[in-house]
Amino acid sequence: MAEIIDGKATSLQIQEELAKEVEKIKQKGGKVPHLAAVLVGDDGASVTYVNAKVKACERIGFGSTLVHLPRETTEEELLRKVAELNNNPEIDGFIVQVPLPSHIDEQKIVDAIDPKKDVDGFHPINMGKMILGLPGMVPATPKGILLLLEKNGIETEGKNCVVMGRSHTVGTPISVLLSRKSKPGNCTVTQIHSRTKDIARHTRQADLLIVAIGQPEFVTGDMVKEGAVVIDVGIHRVPAPERKSGFKLKGDVNFEEVSEIASKITPVPGGVGPMTIAALLYNTLLATKS
Ligand code: NAP
Repeated sequence: MAEIIDGKATSLQIQEELAKEVEKIKQKGGKVPHLAAVLVGDDGASVTYVNAKVKACERIGFGSTLVHLPRETTEEELLRKVAELNNNPEIDGFIVQVPLPSHIDEQKIVDAIDPKKDVDGFHPINMGKMILGLPGMVPATPKGILLLLEKNGIETEGKNCVVMGRSHTVGTPISVLLSRKSKPGNCTVTQIHSRTKDIARHTRQADLLIVAIGQPEFVTGDMVKEGAVVIDVGIHRVPAPERKSGFKLKGDVNFEEVSEIASKITPVPGGVGPMTIAALLYNTLLATKS
């Protein structure tokens, strides 16, 4: 049975470290980091994510602002809100929760965010800096995965890493980051996507398998090499009528099967999700220094 990589505990450990930083800032009379989160509409999962981010800020002593706009908000109105947050000296960093309603062009919104306040790290300038290895905001979920590997002492140097997925938010940045000459990093990375042929032939070569495809329980035991480390980024609400909420959370990996084969594995929930929050807070602190 694989050892569980506890993202919740690691995230809380990082949050404690950040809370100590806040104390130091306060003692020196400095400005406490302040994160704003913009939510458009009432999508259930998005509301949960944004609330978790705001709560985490409160827990560690950061300031936080939740900007909740109706689903009918126009692109122009949202762009005005972004400009307002860019120009507000009280706000050090902010996120615009995705997905946005289909009448709003997400890229246009991301492009309008001041890169120094872009704590999600999605702005093209931050993406470019990441590729060049320059200091900047690294997207929160990939940054969270790096922190998870580092804090749990998982060696990456020289390992065969297979990343499943090529989104701009997860698959592509984590592939870049793990192939960089750094620690964690120095992996030999194979990136696969929906057009890849014979996926299992690739995944079975992975010492480190990172799965971000958005397909519930897609990765089964026969696709994983004995002793691999498996990081499951996926998160899905699947119906569970026996539960009060009516759903339970599953990842992109079939946990029951893969945990019998892997040496270490992240659970869902309690794996990458809490680490994304830790990385977001980390980026917000970074934003106060830029
Ligand atoms: P996305 O934008 O939908 O991208 C999915 C990627 O997976 C695409 O590159 C797609 O390939 C590839 N793919 C889809 N089906 C595949 C298959 N059968 N075989 C191989 N590749 C396949 O998703 P995302 O935003 O990266 O998110 C992935 C998952 O992570 C989702 O479940 C999401 O909810 C979750 N997530 C979790 C967190 C967290 O904090 N825990 C954060 C972000 C995302 P093509 O490019 O060829 O279409």
